[in-house]
Amino acid sequence: MIYMKHCRSTIIVLAIAIFGAQSLAQQSSAPDSIEAFTNARIIIGEGSVIERGSLLIRDGVILDIGTSITIPGNTISHDLNGKTVIPALVNTHAHLGWEAYGDWGSQFFTDENLIDHLQRHAYYGVGTIISTGSDKEDVALRVKLEQLKGNISGARYELSPGMGSPGGGPNPRFTDDPDYWGVHPVADPEQAVRTVRELAQQGVGIAKIWVDARDERRGAQVKVAPEIYRAVLETAADYDMRIIAHATTLNDHKALVNVGNRRFIHMPYDTEVDDEYIEMVRENNVYIVPTLGMIIKREPYYIPAFQDPFFYDQVPASVLESLNNNYNPPPLNRNAEAEERSAMLAENLRKLKDHIILGTDAGAVGDFFGYADHVELALFVRMGMTPMEAIVAATSRSAQAFGLNDVGMLQAGKAADFVILNGNPLDDINNTRQISDVYLRGERVDREAWRTQWTEQD
Ligand SMILES: [Zn+2]
Repeated sequence: MIYMKHCRSTIIVLAIAIFGAQSLAQQSSAPDSIEAFTNARIIIGEGSVIERGSLLIRDGVILDIGTSITIPGNTISHDLNGKTVIPALVNTHAHLGWEAYGDWGSQFFTDENLIDHLQRHAYYGVGTIISTGSDKEDVALRVKLEQLKGNISGARYELSPGMGSPGGGPNPRFTDDPDYWGVHPVADPEQAVRTVRELAQQGVGIAKIWVDARDERRGAQVKVAPEIYRAVLETAADYDMRIIAHATTLNDHKALVNVGNRRFIHMPYDTEVDDEYIEMVRENNVYIVPTLGMIIKREPYYIPAFQDPFFYDQVPASVLESLNNNYNPPPLNRNAEAEERSAMLAENLRKLKDHIILGTDAGAVGDFFGYADHVELALFVRMGMTPMEAIVAATSRSAQAFGLNDVGMLQAGKAADFVILNGNPLDDINNTRQISDVYLRGERVDREAWRTQWTEQD
């Protein structure tokens, strides 16, 4: 962890600055004028819908919402007849900074690339993005600070530093990179306590821990022992830090819930979830990011992004060409065993549907930023959730899971982060792709300008 030692003092300074900027942002300057969005179908985010409602915003915040609200004079008004408004999506699992559209690696983790990834998410209607455990933290904190000061557009950026066994952490695509900076190592309970305290002192409110023996690569024991993750969770609770655990087996999930874990990246993939587990999940209000997009690439219905106009509209021809040339379709899941496994996963998802939240693993092995979120929403529905359940999972519940109280729902007092759709996603979840406009912090995202910039790049 040479990198961490080098940068610790910078990070502390930045963390203090971030606390300062947060209160600055709240007091903000002179109020802007009021804008009204009228005659819209408004999907609130918690499960209800208003037909022909109005949304009133000012200074980046929702002032009022409903069917019979008074619209003051000199208001800028937008008639949304026939359109549907949903809260901007909240994505709780992606890996920003490494993707270079045609190339990939730690060398791309710069301020500029990180900002590009925030904008790619915003373009697709994702208002908040949690980057999980693979960020270069000095760059990340600097970008977050600049965004809080109002100098950076795009999705709201939340980082969640990663902890793991020394040599463990993310998949080999990251760890094999010669310049990868590694995870915060937690080799024993004492180091776990120390690490969580240090992160808390740096202003970190969300952190990730990898509890997984999926690939005992390079001969390392990468699975974190229960006494270590218990120490992480107990210390995090003292600081109101929200931990999300990467775990993929039913036994690991149960053991983690038993010592206080409330958030998971991945559903149990190894077996059907049993009644005991479902009861634990319900009683403890556990949140689960299934990240289905990562596991469907062998399904016959999977369409690679470069064949989908919803993706290829926003990248230059050279990127499409390289994606096309480098595409090695994996063998399709057409045997009985694979079909049984898919059915089991769908069954698990249905049983856990009231606890599911959105995450894509984009930037690692999921699909591309922003685009992947719509793929995931469609998968939720394909696997048995209703469109409304999918939208709730991807908005209010995802925000709630991490205490992001300003976002994920369209309600007076919350952030004016929303997406205007030309189609009704309750009729067909694929209508989340019919984006008319995206507003973040009350400001219209200039999607056309970004698209032009991205497609003309080479
Ligand atoms: Zn991931």
